[in-house]
Amino acid sequence: MSLAADSIEIVRANDPDVASAIDAEVTRQHSTLEMIASENFASKAVMQAAGTVFTNKYAEGYPGRRYYHGCDPSDAVETLARDRAKELFGADHANVQPHSGTTANQEVYFASIKTGDTILSMSLAHGGHLSHGHKVNAVGSFYNIANYGVTQDTELIDYDDVAAKAREHNPAMIVAGGSAYPSLIDFAKFREIADEVGALLLVDMAHFAGLVAGKAIPSPVPYADFTSTTTHKTLRGPRSGLVLCKEQYAKALDKSVFPGMQGGPLMHIIAAKAVAFGEALKPSFQDYAKQVIANAKALGDALVSRGLRLVSGGTETHLVLVDLTNYGVTGKAAADTLEHAGITVNMNMIPFDTRKAVETSGIRIGTPALTSRGMKEAEMTTIANWIADVLSDIENQELITKTRKQVEELTANYPLRADEA
Ligand SMILES: *Cc1c(COP(=O)(O)O)cnc(C)c1O
Repeated sequence: MSLAADSIEIVRANDPDVASAIDAEVTRQHSTLEMIASENFASKAVMQAAGTVFTNKYAEGYPGRRYYHGCDPSDAVETLARDRAKELFGADHANVQPHSGTTANQEVYFASIKTGDTILSMSLAHGGHLSHGHKVNAVGSFYNIANYGVTQDTELIDYDDVAAKAREHNPAMIVAGGSAYPSLIDFAKFREIADEVGALLLVDMAHFAGLVAGKAIPSPVPYADFTSTTTHKTLRGPRSGLVLCKEQYAKALDKSVFPGMQGGPLMHIIAAKAVAFGEALKPSFQDYAKQVIANAKALGDALVSRGLRLVSGGTETHLVLVDLTNYGVTGKAAADTLEHAGITVNMNMIPFDTRKAVETSGIRIGTPALTSRGMKEAEMTTIANWIADVLSDIENQELITKTRKQVEELTANYPLRADEA
């Protein structure tokens, strides 16, 4: 089957094996409900820019200062991406070359602290990220890692704990931001704590950058020395990274990215980032960001009305973290069963989880992708009820099959953005 979302006629003619995997992915994205909180659907313009001859070009260095020749068009497109990123987030400086969110964070550390220095970040078990330092991640082997967490009663960041850990460990860098935190973060408070102990502040807005760009939640950029992000989550660009910083760190950051940690920039992806930042600068992106949050609230309310518990009592962002304890199912069993029913989510630890990461007591559900397809609060309520139905009876094959059909009927009415003219 070939849907309009990817026109791959030449791949199909020359390499049917790869074409069939792409076709299967197009069909999967079309006919299921994509509710992984870190995923989204890039526009056709973003995808076209990513699929261009810029992939052929070496452009080590920066606009006007390249180590390769023939870089005028590369300079033009990277300058567009940089200027748009600065305008979008009100930043002094932007480096658009990081290949991913993880690389972006490593490049911030390499630019600003020494190996062996201490990084104070949110514990992975409470919603942090591997690239904030963990024993299975390279960051954890280059730097000394200390963690703060959330309180057991509110499940919100424990700012007293952050301050106490900062005084105790004397970190060179404090990192705010995570992957499964449904609430807003008090960036001013983080700045105050960082100043008290003389630490730098990195805000990793990988998950919520699109909500910041769309002016739906407060921006960390004025408070942070460095702000890192992915470009493919709520920001809805190509799969990649971005770092913003204050002017005084601009030179060190640029040197850290190249030649410090990367070689040639991915100019085709930088072109696609320029397109995505241009889209995010349009007023319609603000409507999108607000709708993402409204949809997450509607989804959460409907799940609560079905007896499920939301970590931290609800959401102020694009995701809900659902505690499945009341339903007596694990996150793993829930996510597996929902996948069979055509609803894609991921299992996730909840704070103070008694189960391991391979099993978990929770699932994380996000609304960025379905909001991009045009779904609103009414659809979220319907979907929440399907989720609750399936999870309250996970062995019921008939119900799973029926839900899968309902999902197909619903998704047929909502094209992927890549189908748009
Ligand atoms: C997704 C994420 C990243 C990593 O992004 P990749 O592009 O997958 O490397 C970094 N930090 C946070 C908080 C994230 O959620």
